[in-house]
Amino acid sequence: MSDTSRGLVLVVEDERAISDLLRMYLAREGFGVHVATDGGSALTAARTMHPAAVILDVGLPVMDGTQVCRQLRAEGNWVPILFCTARDDEVDRVLGLELGADDYITKPFSPREVVARVKSVVRRAALVSADDSPLEVGAVVLDPVTRRVTVAGEAVSLTATEFDLLAHLMGHPGRVYSREQLLSEVWGYAAVVGTRTVDVHVAQVRGKLGDLNPIRTVRGVGYSAEAPGAP
Ligand code: CA
Repeated sequence: MSDTSRGLVLVVEDERAISDLLRMYLAREGFGVHVATDGGSALTAARTMHPAAVILDVGLPVMDGTQVCRQLRAEGNWVPILFCTARDDEVDRVLGLELGADDYITKPFSPREVVARVKSVVRRAALVSADDSPLEVGAVVLDPVTRRVTVAGEAVSLTATEFDLLAHLMGHPGRVYSREQLLSEVWGYAAVVGTRTVDVHVAQVRGKLGDLNPIRTVRGVGYSAEAPGAP
């Protein structure tokens, strides 16, 4: 496939060898690729080119990847972001700062794995439920068509991954999902990143939805969505 029908991926990476490799693999899979080598030009590209996904290196000169992500989210830009981290402490920063990252991958990575992750976040962001009617659990209403979530009528901004996680749980209220199940069904790949990813995203969704959040922890099993106070 030589067209770019899958959409544009913005690769933010200051190491030429890595961006060249990603460009080659992404192009082979039908993605258009734009490379930015610093945070400032990444922001400009994200604002003007409307990419389908961003691969964002954490270690960039001047403005690092976490600042780029924070700025985009502050502007209301919820493009799916896949962080590339070089060290474990960067993973902790990405996860701990609740930046609204959709996924992360640790260097050195296989380009194949990165492409699989990109496909996954793009697919999920474009996913429209087969049944288009809004889901409602307690005070939380989730519209799969507009991808809007409201709590007691107030709009809440979720990342693509947070939205899909919540939609998955709200699609079957009361059903308990294990972390492994959620990883494979929501993230779309086997549990290579570890179940901590699920816990972190659940915590982020809860934080955004506040006291009326419907996600319940089922000790030793996983998570389910139920109206607070439900039996
Ligand atoms: Ca770098």
